[in-house]
Amino acid sequence: MNIVKIMKFGGTSVGNPDRMKALIPLITDKEKKIVVLSAMAGTTNNLVEITELLYADNKDEASVKIEILRAKYHDVVNDLYTTDPIRQSGHDLINSHFDNINNLTLRILTKLQERTILAQGELISTSLFHLLLQEREIKSVLLPALNFMRIDKDGEPDYFYIEENIKRELRKKSSENIIITQGYICRNAVGEIDNLKRGGSDFTASIIGAALKVSEIQIWTDISGLHNNDPRFVQNTKVIRELSFDEAAELAYFGAKILHPSSVNPAKEKNIPVRLKNTLEPEDEGTLITSNSILLDYKAVAAKDNISVLRIRSDRMLMAYGFLRKVFEIFEAYRTPIDMITTSEVCVSITIDNPQYLTQIAKDLRELGTVEVEENQTIVCIVGDFRTERTGSAPEIFQALNTIPLKMISYGGSPNSLSLLIDTANKTEALRLLSKHLFE
Ligand code: ADP
Ligand code: ASP
Ligand code: MG
Repeated sequence: MNIVKIMKFGGTSVGNPDRMKALIPLITDKEKKIVVLSAMAGTTNNLVEITELLYADNKDEASVKIEILRAKYHDVVNDLYTTDPIRQSGHDLINSHFDNINNLTLRILTKLQERTILAQGELISTSLFHLLLQEREIKSVLLPALNFMRIDKDGEPDYFYIEENIKRELRKKSSENIIITQGYICRNAVGEIDNLKRGGSDFTASIIGAALKVSEIQIWTDISGLHNNDPRFVQNTKVIRELSFDEAAELAYFGAKILHPSSVNPAKEKNIPVRLKNTLEPEDEGTLITSNSILLDYKAVAAKDNISVLRIRSDRMLMAYGFLRKVFEIFEAYRTPIDMITTSEVCVSITIDNPQYLTQIAKDLRELGTVEVEENQTIVCIVGDFRTERTGSAPEIFQALNTIPLKMISYGGSPNSLSLLIDTANKTEALRLLSKHLFE
């Protein structure tokens, strides 16, 4: 029987023993499904901290953190299971993962060891959950993501490899209805352990869903769907019941944390509905993302931080053809994608979200003109009806934000969105003003 759906449960949905137990009624219907799990909430952050301490050669503090986390997991095991043999297996499992982490701290940390440490969160959560189902005598099987999930040399999913390999793995496990796998983790082009970047379990769910052409990809989290503004900064946000793939992709890319930035694309490619659901309120219908587009003046606002802007001024050159190509080639040479761009007769402003090569890029751009760099910027993206024939939307947005300095405006690039660049210091105020003027 074919896989019908993917159910991905995020960090809070597996965040403690009670939350894990609460997943059981959600996954025990008769449909054949792949259950993608994240690490328990907080674990990946802890593992990142451990690797940072190791890079700083602070082994003692790293060991303290490792042992605190190990003890936390032993507590989880004690609460999660009721029978002694399963509890013992749980403790053994935790010890084997943490002994493994400890072994990796003995020598100087390499990138590969770092990524091996980061992978432990998902490896542990899936094993613990599989053991829980075994204790409850619910048939399930663990399918290691490292056997099929792979990125290529550019860090992009290797769709061909993934489809071939997951199908092969599934043929071996045809009798179980519940197939558990890890989100986030994968192998890279040379076969080493790697990951799909922070929040990547959503991406795993979407990639697998697309590879298997399932009928629905469900992303279960701690909120009932995608809201019209960021609930971490704005009160009284409201759920949006339906979104198109393009709208959801723009919101995810521009900071709506509920979805990994790339996670909509594989589903969109294969036209597979994505449903965002709340494990704390499973009855709530959540948000449905499909190819359907319902036009609304304004649907939602999202914000993406850690943006840097480069302003290049060239009195002689700018409008000479070939100039922009030279500018773009510099970004290409440093494999740094551009988010927003605006041009005037003598200036071009460009934003990037990856500051790794900022200094080198600025240095190379100085060959073409004078260059100004500003960091700590935020892109605010307003998703709604921005088709070119429409009138009146931009004035409402500018009126709402008339107390906030707008550094760049991008309009006309997408029929679904308008983006603005502001100082990060003004972000919360800008989000609140937009909610007040556009949604209330
Ligand atoms: P998970 O661990 O399940 O992947 P995340 O923390 O990654 O969960 O994503 C869910 C969180 O995203 C919510 O708790 C909420 O604070 C945040 N969030 C940010 N923007 C939005 C939005 N527009 N709609 C809903 N949630 C959002
Ligand atoms: N555990 C990973 C993270 O915290 C992946 C995920 O939760 O989606 O980033
Ligand atoms: Mg997430």
